[in-house]
Amino acid sequence: MVDVLKRPAVRTALIIGGGIAGMSAALSLRRAGVDVRLIDIDPDWKVYGAGITITGPTLRVMDRLGILPAVLEEGYAADGLLACRSDGSVIAEIETTHDGAGSIPGAGGIMRPVLHRLLAKEIDEAGIEVSLGLSVSELGGDAPRRVRFSDGSEGRYDLIVGADGIFSQTRQHLFPDLPAPHYVGQVCWRLMTERHPDITRRTYYLGGPMKVGMNPVARDRMYMFLLEPLAAFARIRDADLHIRLAQLMSSYGGVVGELREALSPQSSIVVRPLETVFCPQPWYKNGVILIGDAAHATTPQLASGAGMAMEDGVVLGECVAQAATLDDALEAFMRRRYDRCALVVEKSLTLGKLEKSGSPPIEQIRVVEAALQQLNKPY
Ligand SMILES: Cc1cc2nc3c(=O)[nH]c(=O)nc-3n(C[C@H](O)[C@H](O)[C@H](O)COP(=O)(O)OP(=O)(O)OC[C@H]3O[C@@H](n4cnc5c(N)ncnc54)[C@H](O)[C@@H]3O)c2cc1C
Repeated sequence: MVDVLKRPAVRTALIIGGGIAGMSAALSLRRAGVDVRLIDIDPDWKVYGAGITITGPTLRVMDRLGILPAVLEEGYAADGLLACRSDGSVIAEIETTHDGAGSIPGAGGIMRPVLHRLLAKEIDEAGIEVSLGLSVSELGGDAPRRVRFSDGSEGRYDLIVGADGIFSQTRQHLFPDLPAPHYVGQVCWRLMTERHPDITRRTYYLGGPMKVGMNPVARDRMYMFLLEPLAAFARIRDADLHIRLAQLMSSYGGVVGELREALSPQSSIVVRPLETVFCPQPWYKNGVILIGDAAHATTPQLASGAGMAMEDGVVLGECVAQAATLDDALEAFMRRRYDRCALVVEKSLTLGKLEKSGSPPIEQIRVVEAALQQLNKPY
């Protein structure tokens, strides 16, 4: 609840980047009584059509953003994680933790464009100003910070939020000496397809030459991911994607084997090199703060990057609502976010190394379980 008698620490905010982090921050800051403007460089505000996995903490932050009922309706939620061998036989079932009341499931999945649409609908209903095809060409000055936009117009804002993703220009502007994101030697393949009747929750095939997993993203849809160890990433022609993916899946049985048999030139396949970057704290300078992948882009082993991006947005709004000054708000934000995001990035990299070295599945399961337990704690 905003105290209307108290002068807010932040009255106006500009959010650079309308992805998962930027939209979450816009909603949370708006609820804190801030006049928010959201800009995105993409004139069509598109996202690529891949599935993502949602953890229990991600479902809980979606609840705080008010999109959980729609996510449960249009996405998929189910408890637990099934770890299998490469022939499909089960190794272990890992529990996922409910919220205290037990009403929010422990895990799930959703198509990225669906999540984008649900957040964009909330933005629209909150009456937040969105400008597309726009970026920032100059940032500077004392509070309120002056911004010159790519169309030549100018604005002044108490707070500027850089939510412009892993290759953030805002990060480059704030911290030009930080190392650029680096490739971790793995490529992520994703195949979007009809849900196989045996895939009713997150299912990982461990112990084979690659890590493979499947997860429903709607009642009738699922995606399969495969992490390929590769020293250097080279783009593959779209027409060859299904051929290369079939080769990578060749030694797998079970449902993965069935998916391989069904691959065709029409298969919906997305390939991405895995890259990471992590900024030392603080993630802010002169009233400009980085959130989401701009501050901490993780590899996807813990399926928590989007969740951390949403949590950043929600926590930023809460800190602004509760603090007397902007600096207090940003310090409080760092206290609540830094260790949690560091854990996701570090443990995901650890898992990637274990995958590449072919470590026993049980070793990987232990890292996942320990990290999920930590992430279930309040922040
Ligand atoms: C292969 C892969 C699989 C993944 N799987 C999962 C998963 O299963 N679960 C999960 O939770 N997470 C997953 N993630 C992580 C997740 O996708 C990211 O953490 C999340 O998208 C970060 O959101 P963001 O808003 O910070 O950045 P982005 O989603 O990258 O959004 C950035 C936005 O900023 C805009 N922008 C960029 N530059 C500018 C600029 N200069 N000016 C204005 N706007 C700009 C872009 O157009 C975009 O809209 C995965 C990531 C990868 C690479």
